[in-house]
This record gives sequence, structure tokens and C-alpha cells, in this order.
Amino acid sequence: MPCTECNLCETPGTLAESSGIARVSSNLRKFRQEQFTVWRCSNCQSLHSKEDVDLGYYYAHYYLGNHQLDYFSRCSYRSRLQKLMRQGFCLEHSLLDYGCGPGLFVTYLREKGHADVAGYDPYVPDMADPRRLERQYDVVTAFDVIEHDADPQQFLQRLLSFVKPGGLLVIGTPNAETIDLQKPQTVELHQPYHRHILSQRILEALGRQLGLEVLEVQNRYYMDTLFPAVNTRFIWEYVYAHGGVLDATMEPAQVGRVLTSPRLLFFAVAGYFFPPRQSMLVFFRKPMVSQ
Ligand SMILES: [Zn+2]
Repeated sequence: MPCTECNLCETPGTLAESSGIARVSSNLRKFRQEQFTVWRCSNCQSLHSKEDVDLGYYYAHYYLGNHQLDYFSRCSYRSRLQKLMRQGFCLEHSLLDYGCGPGLFVTYLREKGHADVAGYDPYVPDMADPRRLERQYDVVTAFDVIEHDADPQQFLQRLLSFVKPGGLLVIGTPNAETIDLQKPQTVELHQPYHRHILSQRILEALGRQLGLEVLEVQNRYYMDTLFPAVNTRFIWEYVYAHGGVLDATMEPAQVGRVLTSPRLLFFAVAGYFFPPRQSMLVFFRKPMVSQ
């Protein structure tokens, strides 16, 4: 069924009365010629992908297949770990990274001495062991996952069942409120994979409905660091310079192209200070006693 009614808010907005509609080209090279309809719920400001597509077909050609633990991922995972540690995550704590892809963040955490960490991803055979979901963890993270799910409310509820009482649930996802549909080339629209891009207000509201406390919301992407070229603004600019396809980020880096482009060179060095601010990192705490 096409998505023509918001599945997030209590008085759902509809496509017919939408406050914004755009035709968005896929930003994967293989599907670049295909366009999808993205519309904004006039009530909660979340974004929805209208067309009902065969996602199995699109994921069979997804661009993260060759991802490696390299300079970029190490620098960005370092930033991610620091954010978790500022919320109290330490070596004694257990962590589940849900939707972990090939599990590189878990590998990184183990390298840093975090022994009780696990990754789960139903779409990656090596990471799809359901026994990892038969216990609870001090911290459950889901980076860039909820927006891929057909039912974000159910997704949050499911993740919460893996969090110990008093533990943390950390959701990293694009923020619909800061995405401008007048700019349909925006990387974060990522069609047709991003099914529902939540607004910050609805993500916080859904968490509170589940009895969660909102500890902190950061509007800076975890990939934003001061390391050269490891910042979101540079990566997005690099993508735009390569025809707007995300595949470019997984292909051998074109260092020469960066060095000869004043714009790319500038953002490689100073991009940290010009963040796109199209994402949010929300730290929820599960109550000690279920409400
Ligand atoms: Zn809505």
C-alpha cells in the first residue's frame, strides 16, 4: 500500500493536505534515473516516502557492501564512542548495536576494550544471530536505522525491549524538520530507502509515550570530527561533486580531485564548522521501573 497517511502522529496528516511534496531521484548510481515521491506531514512535519516498492530488490544493490574499518570509520567511530561515554557508557557496560551492517562499530569497540558488545542486523547473514536479542543491554544504539523501517513506532518499542531498566537507548537519524524539500538532491532524503524521516518533535514524543526520558538531543552528526575530511559537510560536498551519488563514498577516494577543488579542500579542512545539521542524535533513558 502506498503511504498516503502519516503513521507517526495522533491526528495524522495526509498526502492530500501535505505542506510539501517533492519528486526525489535515488542517490544510488544504479537507480539514479528513478524518482520517488516524498511528502511532509502537515501535523508532525515528518517526511514519508509514498511509493510502495520492492525493498528487497533495492537492498540487493545497496552501497555499503564494501565498507571497511578505515581512517574515516575509525575517526567517526571515535567521535561516536566519545558521545556515548559522555552519557556514562564505560568498559563494564554491555552494548547492542542494532542495524549494525557488517558490524564495524562493534569491532571498533572491542579494539577499545569493550568486551560485552554485540551487533545485530537481520540483513547481514554474519550479524543476524537471533540469540543476541535474547538478553538486555545497558546501552542499545541504532544509527541510521529507524528511517529505513516501515513502522518506526513498532521499531522503537522493539528496541526498548532489549534495554535494561535504567539503560540507554540511542537513536541517530536524519531530522525531517531541518530538511528542505525545495532541495530534492539533499543526501538525507536517500530514496527509496528512507521510508519515514522523523521530525525531532515526533521522535521525542514517541519516546515519551513509551515512558522514556529524553536526556539529550544533539543536532550534529556523529561523523563530524576535526580530523581532515572526516566531517559531514565535506562528505556531502564530495557526494555532490560526484553527481550526487552515495556510491562515491565507498569507492577509492579521489584525492587529486579534492586537492584541485578549492571548495572541497576548504570543507575537508574546515567542514566541522559548517555542519549540515540535518540529523539528530537522541539519548533516551529507560526508567528503572516500567511504567
Ligand atoms: Zn505526522
